[in-house]
Amino acid sequence: MTRYTPPLRDMQFVMHELLNAVPRLKEVPAHADLDAQTINAVLEEGGKFAAEVLLPINQSGDSEGCTLDPATHEVRTPKGFKQAYATYVEGGWPALSTDPAFGGQGLPHLVNQCLFEMLNSGNQSWTMYPGLSHGAYECLHVHGTPEQKATYLPKLSSGVWTGTMCLTEAHCGTDLGLLRTKAEPQSDGSYRITGAKIFISSGEHDLAENIVHLVLARLPDAPTGSKGISLFVVPKFNVKADGTLGSRNAITCGALEEKMGIHGNSTCQMNLDGASGSLVGQPNKGLSAMFVMMNAARLGVGNQSLGLTEVAYQNAVAYAKDRLQMRSLSGPKAPDKAADPIIVHPDVRKMLLTARAYAEGARALSMHTVLLLDLELKHPDAELRQACADEVALLTPIIKAFFTDNAWLATSHCMQVYGGHGYIAEWGMEQYVRDARINMLYEGTNTIQSLDLLGRKVLGDNGKKLKAFGTRISAFIEDEGTNEAMQEFVNPLADIGDKVTKLTTELGMKAFGNADEVGAAAVDYLRVVGHLVFAYLWARMAKIALEKKDSGDPFYSAKLATARFYFAKLLPETAGLIRSARAGSASLMAMDEAHF
Ligand SMILES: Cc1cc2nc3c(=O)[nH]c(=O)nc-3n(C[C@H](O)[C@H](O)[C@H](O)COP(=O)(O)OP(=O)(O)OC[C@H]3O[C@@H](n4cnc5c(N)ncnc54)[C@H](O)[C@@H]3O)c2cc1C
Repeated sequence: MTRYTPPLRDMQFVMHELLNAVPRLKEVPAHADLDAQTINAVLEEGGKFAAEVLLPINQSGDSEGCTLDPATHEVRTPKGFKQAYATYVEGGWPALSTDPAFGGQGLPHLVNQCLFEMLNSGNQSWTMYPGLSHGAYECLHVHGTPEQKATYLPKLSSGVWTGTMCLTEAHCGTDLGLLRTKAEPQSDGSYRITGAKIFISSGEHDLAENIVHLVLARLPDAPTGSKGISLFVVPKFNVKADGTLGSRNAITCGALEEKMGIHGNSTCQMNLDGASGSLVGQPNKGLSAMFVMMNAARLGVGNQSLGLTEVAYQNAVAYAKDRLQMRSLSGPKAPDKAADPIIVHPDVRKMLLTARAYAEGARALSMHTVLLLDLELKHPDAELRQACADEVALLTPIIKAFFTDNAWLATSHCMQVYGGHGYIAEWGMEQYVRDARINMLYEGTNTIQSLDLLGRKVLGDNGKKLKAFGTRISAFIEDEGTNEAMQEFVNPLADIGDKVTKLTTELGMKAFGNADEVGAAAVDYLRVVGHLVFAYLWARMAKIALEKKDSGDPFYSAKLATARFYFAKLLPETAGLIRSARAGSASLMAMDEAHF
């Protein structure tokens, strides 16, 4: 079985030492009474749940998978999932960061973010069931009518009901403007919805009393394309006026997808046969309403990959310390044993440190971003709220794509550390690789994230959001300009900052002449900007570690060593990426389609 120790010390470092999160959150009236001890205690308990309840059912859930009863359309989740969910609900975990007006505990999203990282390390498939509920909750919280909020939010908050997002259809995933599901208005103000959705995560299961589907569909007179899409809430069981469950609604699971990973999560084909639903938000404005859920889900998917990277790393380290093969090139390190442990070999260390640097960098960035999200949603200063919103918008595609690409690399490296044993299911490592792969695909493929970053978030606003972020980096570089010990971090940070500025200007100019230049450069560009953001955070973490490295706490010397590894071995890949981004679209578009 795999092992997992919740990374509480690193979370505390990021929260209290890097981000100074509690004083910043206390500026929000709703969090005025927040204290670090409470947060630490909550996360300690959450970590126990992840390690003791979810991890033990991760591998068994993968091999058992979900099953559909074709007669009743009911889906059974793997053994132990239902009990674990009941324990989760009893513990009040679904309500950690939801609104007290709807039964929530009102803690910052930052705390929930840390909880979900740990749940994902324990079991990504299981975590997708409550994870999607959070997105549905947020969407209804922003766009629901008072009646919809009263009906759905308390139940989603308590976890008695779960949520889904029903966007994809067989002929449309990326291009939702093509979707065909129809919604017909009824005389009582409700809608009858008919269509077929595919790939719906957690679309049907046995964990909760009811499932709240958020469905995109078209009204009869809707314009074509994405401007004609509306959003509807469609419950599995209709809800009576007194809030109790009524008749079974006509939304059912027709089949489960067979897939590469996340076997414990049901991926459902959902048939809507005149299902009853109510409109959420304005007619034909469904896509923008759904973006509340999609943005939450994009941050959530990044968090899935962070969780997988962390747990894969921890297991690979334990194996590398234990497995004896060959002698160190520089002479035996364990002469009393038949061979040295493989952790002495430079390339094994490189694989482990890659996973560690990506996990710790991702933790710092995701917690930084979710802290901004908390301030965006609740801070009394409107100007600060807008600045936070801009930065969250800029960083969201980076979190989704950079983290998930990195996790694919990192989990694969961690599997490689096991040699052939990594490929054998019993060790649990190949599952992490399989589970990590979907994160690059759903919630908008990573290509789409890169177009969002370069096309919309950077060039779309003439670089305003990126410049604001760059100003913060420049201020840090200036502050550390005379700090000799920081030069090894600040100089490469300044260098990559300059290169991103030049690359952005060059791509902006080229895009005027040929829009394909954006498409040709976007994936490389996102990875370069991802490294810029990581380099900034790693430099800030290195500064704290340098100040405290003589404190006697080995945490700081390990942090410093990881920072040095990041700057020496990972950041340099930007040189190749920049060359590739600058190489333009000509070599991609020259080939005649017929010759492919
Ligand atoms: C396990 C699983 C769970 C899922 N869960 C959900 C869910 O809960 N709810 C839901 O609604 N959907 C869900 N999805 C669907 C998922 O979000 C889509 O599969 C994804 O958005 C891609 O859509 P597609 O598969 O139709 O690919 P397509 O849109 O057909 O894309 C195919 C390829 O073309 C590329 N491409 C498309 N357009 C462009 C462009 N303009 N520029 C460059 N490249 C482009 C894509 O990046 C991709 O590589 C899930 C999918 C899976 C496999």
